[in-house]
Amino acid sequence: MSFDFDLFVIGGGSGGVRAARVAASDAGAKVGLAEESRYGGTCVIRGCVPKKLMVFASTYSLAMDQAMAYGWDIKTGGFHWSAFRSKLEGELDRLEGVYRNLLKKSGVKTYDFRATVVGPNTVRLADGREFTAKIILLATGGWPSLPNIPGTEHAITSNEIFHLDALPKRILIVGGGYIACEFAGILNGLGVDTHLWYRGTQVLRGFDVEACDVIAKGMQERGISILTETNLAKIEKSSDSFKVTDTHAREASFDLVMCATGRTPNSGGLGLEKLGITLDRAGAVKVDAYSKTSLPSVYAIGDVTNRINLTPVAIREGMAFVETAFKDNPTPPDHSLIPSAVFTQPEYGTIGLSEEDARNQEPIEVYATTFKPMNTAFIADPQIVLMKLVVSQATRKILGCHIVADGAGEMIQMAGIAVKMGATKEDFDRVCAVHPTMSEELVTMKSPVRKG
Ligand code: NDP
Repeated sequence: MSFDFDLFVIGGGSGGVRAARVAASDAGAKVGLAEESRYGGTCVIRGCVPKKLMVFASTYSLAMDQAMAYGWDIKTGGFHWSAFRSKLEGELDRLEGVYRNLLKKSGVKTYDFRATVVGPNTVRLADGREFTAKIILLATGGWPSLPNIPGTEHAITSNEIFHLDALPKRILIVGGGYIACEFAGILNGLGVDTHLWYRGTQVLRGFDVEACDVIAKGMQERGISILTETNLAKIEKSSDSFKVTDTHAREASFDLVMCATGRTPNSGGLGLEKLGITLDRAGAVKVDAYSKTSLPSVYAIGDVTNRINLTPVAIREGMAFVETAFKDNPTPPDHSLIPSAVFTQPEYGTIGLSEEDARNQEPIEVYATTFKPMNTAFIADPQIVLMKLVVSQATRKILGCHIVADGAGEMIQMAGIAVKMGATKEDFDRVCAVHPTMSEELVTMKSPVRKG
């Protein structure tokens, strides 16, 4: 049977674009791709990229204070949100253009429409056109989910934060995950009176507890108010602010409420259930180790599968999919030992297991040190740094590496290479320190602080 395309990709985010490009350029496949919104997806348009640029913008307030403490004479003015926002929009337009161009150059035919799956090998665009494809790839990502309480229509999510007309004076951020904690740091740095409410006992649940404690303390020292074991119960709009009630029946007023309460896979309304494609309870498309769904002609990658929701992981899933489906080389994406960074202030870089998860797995040794780094100790800044290695007693391998420090994201990328290669604590010890740095502590910690 002949098809219009060898591959039709639904979703033009990082994963979908990479898979489409590589299938077309490396495997010579005839590829179509539909995107209903902007090319680049969450990461480029409403996630990692604009977020990181906002992180950069927000760190200058502290940098200026620190420069003055070092002896610089600086006259600081305010932060001009609208000037930054126009520049940001220009950069995102440029990046979207780059994505479109990459697809065009690879020979991928793009359609700026929503697409649904109407048969095992058929997609339908919102304008009614239908195409057949030997393989369909779902790469539709995820979308912020809001809590089910009265008044959430008054709250924004991370999707809207980049488009505000003006920064609020006082914001409530609900949630304690990546997005909540990162935006708390950003907005606080930009001069917004920032309050975070989290329903659990400590933010960034699931990460190494000691690291989370250092991060939360650092966030508070920078001026963020964090209320744990507190959740949003109701939002009411008044003339010039939002009245919120928490789960302890306390009331407070904010200029803006942002919910960062998780993300839902974008699997709804695509026609998947009708075709018998299995979804899990959270709506994620269920796939096998090779990203194949329960319908053999349909694959899925990235956040819509809710495996590890990170851009570089989606990209790798896309490349592994092309190997499997177009290069006769079945390749499961490798989801083990993925380094990542949370761009909180202070920043967190992590790979492998938390101390808690490692201890549940096997007997461990923990090497950890917290200290005031040279650059901020000099100016009596309270900032504390954490360097931590979780080591298997049996194999001596590093099971987890956790860094809370400025530049932790950059450091963990490097440390991650060694950890992924299976480095032992003794391998780390054999490396000479780079002095004076913060990360030299990773190779100079002699005795475990905890065992067992
Ligand atoms: P997370 O899953 O990280 O965090 C969601 C937070 O919202 C948790 O603290 C959760 O609490 C809380 N929550 C969930 N439901 C409710 C509710 N009904 N009421 C109140 N609180 C609630 O999601 P994010 O939205 O922060 O991020 C989504 C994903 O995006 C991340 O998992 C990550 O994969 C990715 N991401 C990665 C980044 C990076 O690599 N730097 C940056 C941003 C996002 P609880 O802990 O109790 O469940």
